[in-house]
Amino acid sequence: MAPPSGDNNVVVSSNLKLERLLSMKGGKGEASYASNSQAQAKHARSMLHLLKETLDGVELNSPDTPFTVADLGCSSGSNTIFIVNVIIEHITKRYEASGHSDLPEFSAFFADLPSNDFNTLFQLLPPLANQDVGSMEECLASDGHRSFFAAGVPGSFYRRLFPARSIDVFYSAFSLHWLSQVPEIVLDKSSTAYNKGKIFIHGATKSSANAFKKQFQTDLAGYLKMRSKEMKKGGSMFIALLGRTSEDPTDQGGAGLLFGTHFQDAWNDLVQEGLITSEKRDDFNIPVYAPSLQDFKEVVEANGSFSINKLEVFQGGSPLVVNRPDDALEVGKALANSCRSVSGVLVDAHIGDKLGDELFLRVANRATNKAEEILEKLQFFHIVASLSLK
Ligand code: SAH
Repeated sequence: MAPPSGDNNVVVSSNLKLERLLSMKGGKGEASYASNSQAQAKHARSMLHLLKETLDGVELNSPDTPFTVADLGCSSGSNTIFIVNVIIEHITKRYEASGHSDLPEFSAFFADLPSNDFNTLFQLLPPLANQDVGSMEECLASDGHRSFFAAGVPGSFYRRLFPARSIDVFYSAFSLHWLSQVPEIVLDKSSTAYNKGKIFIHGATKSSANAFKKQFQTDLAGYLKMRSKEMKKGGSMFIALLGRTSEDPTDQGGAGLLFGTHFQDAWNDLVQEGLITSEKRDDFNIPVYAPSLQDFKEVVEANGSFSINKLEVFQGGSPLVVNRPDDALEVGKALANSCRSVSGVLVDAHIGDKLGDELFLRVANRATNKAEEILEKLQFFHIVASLSLK
C-alpha cells in the first residue's frame, strides 16, 4: 500500500491546536478512558492520606459562602467523582468538628479541555440531593445522591479558568505531565533538537529532551500563575502527576516504557511495512513530560506564590489492571488499550483511525510477546505536591 498523502496531518506543535484536539478516549468502549482508568483510581486511592493532609490545611470560611472545589484535568469516568466526594466528605467532617452548626453549600467544577467527553462524565453524576426536603446535613447523608452543585469547565489549565479568589481546593491528578504543545524545535528538521526516528523523548537526544523539559517548566509556571490568582486566600492545592526518579530527562521511567518501547516499535513497523513514511512518524510526538522532583521544585520556587507543604516522589505501581497476569494475550491487550485510551485521539488525528487500528494491533502483538517483562518492569512514579498560597 502506498503511504497516504497525509491529509490527516495535525501538527501538534501549536498549543491552540492541541488544546482543541486533546482528550482521553471518550465513551465507555474497550479502549475508552472510562474503561482503562482503574489503575489511576488505585493510585489516587493510595494517595488519599496525602490529599487529606492537604485538606486539613484549608482555611474554613463562614458557612454562608459556598465551598468550592475544582478538579483540573478531570477526564471522563468515575475517578473524578470519587475524589470530589472524598474532598467534600473530609471538609464536611472538618466543619462539624470545628463546631459550626451549619455547613456551607458545596460547588464542584469539573475542568478539562473542550474535547473531553463531559457528556459521559455528567451521566455518571448521581442526582443532586433534594434540597427542599431538609437541611444540607440530611442531603449529605442521603445515599446515592450528590451533595454538591456540579459544573463542567472547558479550557486549558495553562490559562485562566475561574474568577479571581474563587476556589478553595484545587485538585489535579495524572494531568500536568501533558504539555500545552510539542516544542516546535523538536519537529524542525533543521534543528539539533529534531526528534528523528522517535515519537517520544525516552531515549532521545539531550537537545530534544531539554526542549521538552523547557516546555514543561514554562507550562507549569503558567499553571501556577493562573492558580495563584484563582485560589482563595487560605485555599490549598493537591497535585499528582507522572514523574521520574532519574535525573536524566531522556530516561522517562514508566512513561518511557509505555510510550517509548512497544508503542515506538509499532510506529517503526508501520514505516517498515510502507504504511506511513518515516517523516509522518517523526512528525508525531507524544506531548508528555515526566519531570524529576527537581524539575518540578524549581518552577514552584521561581513562581514564589506558594508554600510547599509536601513534595515527594510516590511509587504508583503498574498502569495496567489485568485479571489473569499469566495470560500474555490479556497483558498485551491491556497495554495497547491503556496506551490507546490516552494517546488514541492524537494518533487517529495524525494517521486516521484505520491506521490507528493497525498501529495498536501491533502494540498489542509486541506487548503480548513481552508480557512477563511488562508486568515486572512497567511501574509508574508520581510527583505529589501539596501547596498553599503564601
Ligand atoms: N484526573 C483524572 C484524569 C487524568 S487523564 C483521573 O485521575 O483519572 C488526564 C486529563 O488531563 C485528560 O482528560 C486530559 O484531557 C487533561 N488535560 C491535558 N492537558 C490539559 C490542559 N492543558 N488543560 C486541561 N486539561 C488537560
